[in-house]
Amino acid sequence: MSRKEIIVCVDDEEGVLRVLRAQLGARFGHECQVLTARSGDEAVALFDELERDGESIALVVADQIMPGMKGVELLEIVDRRLPSTTKILLTGQAGLDAVIDAINRAHLNQYISKPWDETALLLAVENLLRQYRLVHENQQLIASLSAKNQALLEMNRELEAKIHERTHELAEANARLAQLAVTDGLTGLYNHRHLHERLTLEVERSQRSKLPLSLLMLDVDHFKLFNDTFGHPAGDEVLRQLARVLNDTRRANDVVARYGGEEFAVILVDTAKFTAAKVAERVRERVFGHDFSDAAQKAGKISVSIGVATFPDDGSDAEALVRAADTALYGAKRAGRNRVVLFTESLATTPSVG
Ligand code: GH3
Ligand code: MG
Ligand code: MG
Repeated sequence: MSRKEIIVCVDDEEGVLRVLRAQLGARFGHECQVLTARSGDEAVALFDELERDGESIALVVADQIMPGMKGVELLEIVDRRLPSTTKILLTGQAGLDAVIDAINRAHLNQYISKPWDETALLLAVENLLRQYRLVHENQQLIASLSAKNQALLEMNRELEAKIHERTHELAEANARLAQLAVTDGLTGLYNHRHLHERLTLEVERSQRSKLPLSLLMLDVDHFKLFNDTFGHPAGDEVLRQLARVLNDTRRANDVVARYGGEEFAVILVDTAKFTAAKVAERVRERVFGHDFSDAAQKAGKISVSIGVATFPDDGSDAEALVRAADTALYGAKRAGRNRVVLFTESLATTPSVG
């Protein structure tokens, strides 16, 4: 410990203080500073000063019989203000009541009767200094532990906040990845893979609910010619605009996907063939009415052919339904393009032209 601990001796007799200073100074002077006060009030003023300076008062030795504040009263103040400071009461022969009082009210550690035996005094002070140091070190350890604990708690809170943030970022990244995995890069529509997954799911649902389900297959008419005439970038722009038209025409539960190349598919849930045909016709008209001139000047009109198939009449599972819609689509191509054709068994038996 860098600073010396302090022993305060309080007595109204200068002679007593001189002896105390001499005896305690000789024995403990190397480790303690011995200060004196002539009254209880003077001692309290001294405590104020020492406390302000952050000094640690290890021991107060107080005479009982003093004018003004008595020793017991002073030690009571010490007990309240400096709980770890140890206390000795000096009493004359007749001071037993005061000692009992001091033990009960001020948690007195030791009493020494006047005149005292020097060896007994030094032994008592040595024991009390050891006790004070133990208590003091203990308090410091507790304070430092609780500070460390506080810092740990703080770190833990920061760590938890960081984990929370990272988890959130990860979830967002996963959601973005999942979105990317089902999205067509050119048009932003669902991709082929997702269409098949959704169609399989919707067919199963339709099987359970006994509600019909329809599928539209669309193909851009003479798109090769368009590409050859205006170039592939203009063709890409047509596909993007077409995607937008399909999306805008889409009803709330319809699923629009790019099937591949210049082919698109729309799943119409809870939709029978009659309604599906009307939806398909509306889509065809919207496309034909759309101004694609952004894509290529004098591009003329872009049209699509659409095949319609309905579950369960035209196919008993997703694959069969796609085949049926495809068959109907080729029927539309054969019939002159820019039209809607509903699947029928007779189409399936007609040889395909491709
Ligand atoms: P049909 O009316 O019979 O469908 O005639 P078509 O020319 O549209 O059919 P075909 O299958 O012969 O040609 C399809 C064309 O679509 C050929 C290909 O260059 C074009 N195409 C497919 N995918 C893309 C694409 O991502 N971008 C562009 N620009 N063109 C594409
Ligand atoms: Mg095609
Ligand atoms: Mg085509």
